[in-house]
Amino acid sequence: MTFAAVPFNDLQRGTESIRAELDAVIARVVSSGWFVLGPEHDAFESELAAYVGTAHAINVGNGTDALELGLAALGVIPGSLVLTVANAGAYTSTATRLLGAEPVYVDIDPETHLMSGATLERAIAGCGDVPAAIVVTHLYGALAPMDEILIVAAKHNIPVLEDCAQSLGARANGTMGGAFGHISTTSFYPTKNLGALGDGGAVMTNSAELAERVRRMRQYGWASKYSIESAHGRNSRLDELQAAILRVKLPRLDAANQRRRDIHAVYESAVATSSHTNELRLVNTATERFIAHLAVLETVDRTGARAALDATGIKTDVHYPVPDHQQKWPDFSPRHMPLDVSERAAGRIFSVPMFPELTDGEVARVAEALSAL
Ligand SMILES: *Cc1c(COP(=O)(O)O)cnc(C)c1O
Repeated sequence: MTFAAVPFNDLQRGTESIRAELDAVIARVVSSGWFVLGPEHDAFESELAAYVGTAHAINVGNGTDALELGLAALGVIPGSLVLTVANAGAYTSTATRLLGAEPVYVDIDPETHLMSGATLERAIAGCGDVPAAIVVTHLYGALAPMDEILIVAAKHNIPVLEDCAQSLGARANGTMGGAFGHISTTSFYPTKNLGALGDGGAVMTNSAELAERVRRMRQYGWASKYSIESAHGRNSRLDELQAAILRVKLPRLDAANQRRRDIHAVYESAVATSSHTNELRLVNTATERFIAHLAVLETVDRTGARAALDATGIKTDVHYPVPDHQQKWPDFSPRHMPLDVSERAAGRIFSVPMFPELTDGEVARVAEALSAL
């Protein structure tokens, strides 16, 4: 018996489904003769800010630049400490290192795999100096408990950056992730829930002052044309073409996120009927706090589970196999703090296919395979 593979992701499907509209806006930009920081760019900034519910959105070149500029705007300088988790793919660590600052890792909650108020409090107590910023990553599409995190952050007077690259559209009690912290960031890398046809990113904030700092830094530190008045300037801009493409996709984001949640709910039912011999569980559940960027499972027998799925043609991956503090960073030895939960999770997690254009038949096949684990 042979079966077609269930791909881990297939960007072509989503692109083809809106191909005519994409072609039309691409033609519009090409004809306009305006390719950087033009009307599509400005319109997308307004639309994104309105969607997230912040006063400002500032487009930049990618999600890692967004983190770096967001942290710089908060006052992170060489030698600063930045608190973050070690299980979120090292993007924040990379941005922090680019600023000459030092990431200090906070362990994760064993249920949610996210930072919690308690794990944050422990890390602050353990790190000695006063950190300059906290980066909360809403990993896999699930919002971290911002209420308790903000209480701890306020107690120690540390500003909070939310990384929404995987969570754009997730809400808690009516507020969208990205509108809780002092500043927030996202990425429009093609596989994100809101993805461009290339690189892109944005910074969101309610503070006019923070917004202005990021706006200057993204373009050489200019306060006005050719007048450099801010430190840490560089070139990090979003093209007109990508902005126009994102304007087509943003109005479809909520529906796409809901389709992902519905798929996740099918997986949840399947896992509920599995024998759980290997402590199999899905890390998240389909609520408004979660936009199912990834469908991540945890099991004590990851090798066996992945092999069983692979045998039925279902592709899997691991997000992320190497915690940040165990990367082979040249010239960097992270401060030693216990990260038992992050390390255990890295050895147990795996991700199954999750994208809105999965067919019902493919979803059923994944569900059947999960219930047989
Ligand atoms: C993708 C991602 C980033 C980095 O975005 P790029 O656009 O690839 O630089 C940052 N944080 C998280 C959580 C991400 O998933």
